[in-house]
Amino acid sequence: MSIKTFKDLIEEVHEPGICQECGGCVSFCNSIENDVIGFKKTNSHPEYINNEKCLECGICYFICPQTHILDDDLNKIYKFSDFLSMPLGFVEAIYSCQAIDSEFLNYGTDGGVVNSIINYLIEKKFIDGAIVAKTKSPFSREVIVAKSREDLISASGVKLDISPQLDTVQKYHTYISSLPKLRHYKFKKLAFVGTPCQIYTIRCMQNLGIIPSENIEICLGLFCYENFFFDNKKVEKFEKDFKLKFKNIKRINIKEDLIISLKDDSTVYIPFKKLTDYMRQACAVCKDFTNIYADISFGGLGSPNKFTTVITRTKKGKDIVNKALNAGVIKSLKLDANEKKDMIEKITQFSQSKIKRTEKNMKNKLITWKS
Ligand SMILES: Cc1cc2nc3c(=O)[nH]c(=O)nc-3n(C[C@H](O)[C@H](O)[C@H](O)COP(=O)(O)OP(=O)(O)OC[C@H]3O[C@@H](n4cnc5c(N)ncnc54)[C@H](O)[C@@H]3O)c2cc1C
Ligand code: SF4
Ligand code: SF4
Ligand code: SF4
Repeated sequence: MSIKTFKDLIEEVHEPGICQECGGCVSFCNSIENDVIGFKKTNSHPEYINNEKCLECGICYFICPQTHILDDDLNKIYKFSDFLSMPLGFVEAIYSCQAIDSEFLNYGTDGGVVNSIINYLIEKKFIDGAIVAKTKSPFSREVIVAKSREDLISASGVKLDISPQLDTVQKYHTYISSLPKLRHYKFKKLAFVGTPCQIYTIRCMQNLGIIPSENIEICLGLFCYENFFFDNKKVEKFEKDFKLKFKNIKRINIKEDLIISLKDDSTVYIPFKKLTDYMRQACAVCKDFTNIYADISFGGLGSPNKFTTVITRTKKGKDIVNKALNAGVIKSLKLDANEKKDMIEKITQFSQSKIKRTEKNMKNKLITWKS
C-alpha cells in the first residue's frame, strides 16, 4: 500500500472544502525543520511551499482530523465507544463553575474558569504557559502563549475595539489555527486551549509520539457547535440580515445561540439555524460538540449566566479541577442529581443535533467527504 501524503490531503480534504485549518500538518512538518508546507496569505488552508522536499513520511495524513485514521486508538484511550451511544464521550464528572477572581470573571466569556485554571497552573509551576487566543476584533483572534496573569487577562474576550474597514479585503474568523505556534516552544510544559478539531489533532500526534506534541501537558477543550467565517461581502450581508453594525459589537459569546452584546448595552441572540451562511464549511461535517478527547471540557451551555459548564474526562483533568476547587480558585454550584441530569440532557441535545447535521450534510453530498 502506498503511503498517503499531503498530496492526498489536498485531494481528500482541501478540495472538498473540509480542511479544518487546525494547522496540525504544518506543525509537525515544520518541526522537523522541513518547511514543505505552510500557510500562505492567499488561502486559509495550508499549501505546499517546497513540495520537492517532502519526505513522503505520511504523518500529516495520519494526524489530520478529517482522515479519522486514529479514531479507534483514541476511542480506546479516552474510554469512548461511538457518537451514537455516547454523544458526550466519557464524562467523569460534570460541574457548573465560576472564577473567584473578579477580573477573570468579568473578562471571562462565561464563568472565567478556563483562564483562572490556567493562571493557577502557571502560579503553581505545573505549566510554563498556555496557548490561547487573544481577541483582535469581535470575530478575529490571534494566537499567543500566555505566561502570566496579565497575558491571560489580555486574552479574555471583552476588550474589543477594532472595527472592520470595508474598503480593504478583510477576513474574520471565530476560529484560529493555533497548532503551528507550538514548534517555537520545544521542551516547555504547556496547556493548550482549543476547539474539538484541534484537540483531536493533538491527541493523534501524542498517540504517534511525534513532535511538537510532547510540549502539551494538558488539553483544555472548548465546546464548539460551529465556527464562523466572514469576508467583506458576508459582513455586509450579516449587518443587513441582523440589522446591526460590526463596528458596534462589544463582545460575542457562543452558547445555545450566537450572543452579540452591542456597545449600547443591548444584546442580540441569533439561533445557529439562521447562521448557516456564515459557518465555516469544515464545521458542516464535524460531529464533536463537547470536545471528547480533552482532559477537561468547558462550555456555557447547561450553566446559568456567568457560570461555565466543566466536564472532567481524564485523571489529570479531574486532579486539576479538584485542586482548583480546593485552592479556592474556582467555586462550583451545589447541584443535585436531577440538576446534573438536566444539564447532561441539554448538552446531549446539542451534541445529537450536531451529529445529525453532519450525517445530513454527508448524505446530501453537501460535502464530497469520504468517511
Ligand atoms: C469558537 C468557539 C465556539 C464555541 N461554541 C460554543 C457553543 O456552541 N456552546 C457553548 O456552550 N460553548 C461554546 N464555546 C465555549 C464558550 O464560549 C467559552 O469559551 C467556555 O464556556 C469557557 O468560558 P470561560 O469564561 O470559562 O473561559 P475564559 O476564562 O473566558 O477563557 C476562555 C479561553 O479560551 C481562549 N479562546 C477563546 N477563543 C478561542 C478560540 N477561537 N480558539 C482557541 N482558544 C480560544 C481564550 O484565549 C481563553 O484562554 C465556544 C468557544 C469558542 C472559542
Ligand atoms: S514531509 Fe511528511 S509531514 Fe511533511 S508534507 Fe511530506 S508527508 Fe507530509
Ligand atoms: S491537519 Fe488540519 S490544517 Fe492540515 S489538512 Fe488536516 S484539517 Fe487541514
Ligand atoms: S465545529 Fe468542528 S470543525 Fe468547526 S471549529 Fe468546531 S470543532 Fe472545529
